[in-house]
Amino acid sequence: MSMTLTVEPIPAFSDNYIWLLHNGHEAAVVDPGDADPVLQTLDQRGLTLTDILITHHHFDHTGGLEKLKSATDCHVVGPNNPKITHLDRHLADQETATVLGLTFSIIEVPGHTLDHIAYVGGGMVFCGDTLFAGGCGRVFEGTFPMMRNSLSKLRQLPEDTRVYCAHEYTMANLSFASAADPENEVLRNRILHCQSLRGAGQPTVPSRISDEVATNPFLRWDAPGIIKNLIMQDKLPGNSADEVFAGLRQWKDTF
Ligand SMILES: [Zn+2]
Repeated sequence: MSMTLTVEPIPAFSDNYIWLLHNGHEAAVVDPGDADPVLQTLDQRGLTLTDILITHHHFDHTGGLEKLKSATDCHVVGPNNPKITHLDRHLADQETATVLGLTFSIIEVPGHTLDHIAYVGGGMVFCGDTLFAGGCGRVFEGTFPMMRNSLSKLRQLPEDTRVYCAHEYTMANLSFASAADPENEVLRNRILHCQSLRGAGQPTVPSRISDEVATNPFLRWDAPGIIKNLIMQDKLPGNSADEVFAGLRQWKDTF
């Protein structure tokens, strides 16, 4: 079966992306923190909202649920967390959800929050606030080893998988990345590329898993250049992969 969905960002708040998937008639959105920009876009395009996908409970990802559900009676899926109201179906690791004819596999990726899931399908991953372009989410509810384990699941996706994260944080992330990984030539090129996108008012998202593996320090806990630099900066709590990751994440929290 060949089926093409259009995927585009609906900007919300100051730096959120609500991802819109549609086939020209029916539409789904991922993490609608605000209903109004979604309803406006549906109206402008003549689209009917059939599905909502939720990655985690934070308000900037779920705040539009009630209004969208009552306006459209769409089907809502997300992780099993009582803090998320209006869910029609709970999704757990290795389950699937089919939306607009496209089947997504669910990966549980706790760390940023304990309930966080990612949707993998059609050469795409919708990863919310777990993996960002050039960075990763803050570890609010989980532990550093838990977050690294979640990111290692995403790192193993096919390298051409497009990464649809929920925020435009890329330039700030890449600024930290260049401090953490100063000799990375691919990273320097990525910064130039993303600067030109932002200068033209374009999103830097989606990226590809291959971009993230090559330049995102939070997927590079085993890169010798990063480990060497953490030692030089006196920011390496120990030699294990989890400690390298913890050193990076704690440094970024105060960067
Ligand atoms: Zn969040």
